[in-house]
Amino acid sequence: MKVLKFGGTSVANAKNIELVKDIVSKSTSKTAVVVSAFGGVTDLLLEAALLASTHQENYKNVFLKIEERHINTIKELIPITNQSKVLSKVKTELNILETLLEGAFFIGEITPKLSDKIVSYGELLSSYIISEYFIAQGLNAAYKDSRELIKTNANYGKAAIQNFIETNHLIEGFFNTTKSKITVLGGFIASSTKGDSTTLGRGGSDYTAAIIAAAVTAENLEIWTDVSGMYTANPRIVKQAKAISNISYEEAMELSHFGAKVLYPPTIQPVLAKGISIVIKNTFDPESQGTIITKNPDKNGRTVRGISHIENISLLSLEGPGMVGIPGISKRFFEVLSLAQISIVLITQASSEHSICVGISADDVTTAEDAINSEFEYEISLRKIKPVLVENDLAIIALVGDHMKNHQGLSGKMFSTLGKNNVNIRVIAQGSSERNISAVIDKCDVKKALNALHEKFFEENTKQLNLFIMGVGNVGSKLLHQIKQQKKYLKDNLKLNIRVIGISNSRTMFFDEDGISLKNWETQLASGDKADKEKFFSKVNKLNYRNSIFIDNTASDVVSRTYADYLSNSISVVTCNKIACSSEYDNYSKLKYLAQKYNAPFLFETNVGAGLPIIDTLKHLIASGDKILKIQAVLSGSLNFVFNNFNSSTTFHDIVKEAQEEGYTEPDPKIDLSGIDVARKILILARESGYKLDIDEITNKPFLPEESLSTTNNEDFFASLIKNEDSFQEMFNEADKKDCKLKYVAQFENGKASVGLQHIPKGHDFYNLEGSDNIVLFFTERYPNQPMIIKGAGAGADVTASGIFADIIRIGNF
Ligand code: ADP
Ligand code: ASP
Ligand code: MG
Repeated sequence: MKVLKFGGTSVANAKNIELVKDIVSKSTSKTAVVVSAFGGVTDLLLEAALLASTHQENYKNVFLKIEERHINTIKELIPITNQSKVLSKVKTELNILETLLEGAFFIGEITPKLSDKIVSYGELLSSYIISEYFIAQGLNAAYKDSRELIKTNANYGKAAIQNFIETNHLIEGFFNTTKSKITVLGGFIASSTKGDSTTLGRGGSDYTAAIIAAAVTAENLEIWTDVSGMYTANPRIVKQAKAISNISYEEAMELSHFGAKVLYPPTIQPVLAKGISIVIKNTFDPESQGTIITKNPDKNGRTVRGISHIENISLLSLEGPGMVGIPGISKRFFEVLSLAQISIVLITQASSEHSICVGISADDVTTAEDAINSEFEYEISLRKIKPVLVENDLAIIALVGDHMKNHQGLSGKMFSTLGKNNVNIRVIAQGSSERNISAVIDKCDVKKALNALHEKFFEENTKQLNLFIMGVGNVGSKLLHQIKQQKKYLKDNLKLNIRVIGISNSRTMFFDEDGISLKNWETQLASGDKADKEKFFSKVNKLNYRNSIFIDNTASDVVSRTYADYLSNSISVVTCNKIACSSEYDNYSKLKYLAQKYNAPFLFETNVGAGLPIIDTLKHLIASGDKILKIQAVLSGSLNFVFNNFNSSTTFHDIVKEAQEEGYTEPDPKIDLSGIDVARKILILARESGYKLDIDEITNKPFLPEESLSTTNNEDFFASLIKNEDSFQEMFNEADKKDCKLKYVAQFENGKASVGLQHIPKGHDFYNLEGSDNIVLFFTERYPNQPMIIKGAGAGADVTASGIFADIIRIGNF
């Protein structure tokens, strides 16, 4: 015989029930079909009961919804000729349900017994309607009320089998005598020895099916649901989760105990005893293999089989000097919880005996707190024990696997992964079977923790980077283009999976939690919400994705002031905006400090020399113990372009204009020509070399006439260049006479920095610097005479974007 169970989604509507029929009709042996209530109906019944019992008349609306669901399904499923019988029976049952709800409404109270009676209608109606549909479709089917077969105690809401011998006997007797090939039964519902309706706990239809399978020693038990098996993690939270093909009873039990809702935890017990395997299959994809739960599964080479989690956990801690060395405190603590019917999800024991700490469902927390405080009232009044400490909004995550015990270092790997992602761990517990390692964390970190752990243990070390990009103009759009082109390469070769989750320009911002398509991001961005830096940050922070990186491609001071918020929340920052690193020293050092404290890299390679690896090289020199003695550099691609092209046959104005149009200057070219931009760069290099310096300590001899320096917009600035052409020509001639070239040079030596125009003679390293190239000479203790030289394209949107991209990849390899 076979037992097939179909869950709420599988029987949610007529269309789905037709799929169920297709699956059931393929069975060749005698079959018990256990069904849940139509998806969502149990919740509706509970809602109606709660509303009625609190005198809220709109329970009637909920009832009408329930009624409509059932009547409509009958009308869709059952041919008109057979409809009246089924409709009349269902309407009679619904009338009783309505009367029960009315009773609760008038009394203003609901007992657990009445609640179970009301809730049982979900499965009663679904199983009856489905059986009639099967019959109408010509299947050899019949209906059976499972309350007549499964006998429980009177623990309403989560009743336990009173006596397995009796229940097994009833089930066996029924299936031995029934002539029908297919019997449809409601899951979840049973009856007490007195004959009252009881329920087996939320999700309990799985358990009904297992009890029947064990009683008849079925060939196997098939659990048909809305996912293709038991997954390595909840597939709704971890997109990369995969169905586990084979798993042991114990592993499955552990995963379901720790929240893998796909299987109700008690389900395994009855079938395990009989060695009956469980197969979990997808009603909506019957061909996919699913998961088989057996005694000796294929090992598949994995030590960690799955990761599960339970949300809504509270921690209770009992502490106090009066606990040390006094026997019986733990006994009383656990006894009082047990008497209050509270199940403990996790226990940790401090060996000091100074405290006891347990994790329970948040739903039970008030009852538990009251029960414990009243049990220890006397000790609390003497201050020997403190009132129980309650911490809410927590969750448990657990790694599960039979063979974890044979491998060292798994918990280290687990906790370092969580630590790296800044997930705060409140409590750690390891089952004595060493089949699970669990941790209590903040509820808001669940998604991040699960994904980070899944990545570590199941995705062959592929790392997902989640990017949030502000500024998609010149540099930003190039960056998006480069990411699009390299995405596959990075995934295949560096195991980096790059996703852009949010983008913003100064007008709008757009987020897609599954990753923005890089093909048409412009249209999506245009359709986004109004841009807002604070809201952008709040969204990034709330999403709380692992490996989140904020990328600033703007030149905005206000944007640079938000970095601290990102870093303090463990979100890395990559920027080509020089403002933060050249702002007041305290701000620069605060950002560096936050980056270290919150384990979130703060990278700004493109602040100096665009894509050239200048800062990174400097960092490596310092980290390996070298010391910077002197830096000499041409750091302005724009100024280099200007002075390379300016001569007696051109005008200074035209060359500056050209540089601006080519994207070699800042949007405001005065920032480059006044030397401020270069001063910022040498300041950053000095700071990265370990010197405490501020921008006003840098000597800056401007070459622009006072008139140009004091303009306040680009138009006036360019006009002043035309007016002062003679002085620029003179500047050129002076150098030309000496056979020198004009170069704007930055220098740092003995703790002092300066920037200014210099005459560079033939033969000097700077003399032949082309186009918009940059060059840096590092004189260090290891390179005292022959400096380390870095030279190459130092400006332009493409190279800047590639520098930012390199910083992103650095974080990926971090
Ligand atoms: P049914 O109504 O068929 O009994 P449930 O909703 O009770 O279905 O269980 C299936 C759901 O369990 C899935 O849709 C999924 O959201 C959730 N789930 C949680 N953890 C896991 C896991 N590890 N593997 C598969 N599903 C899981
Ligand atoms: N219908 C019940 C519930 O929603 C039982 C089940 O579906 O397993 O909890
Ligand atoms: Mg279920």
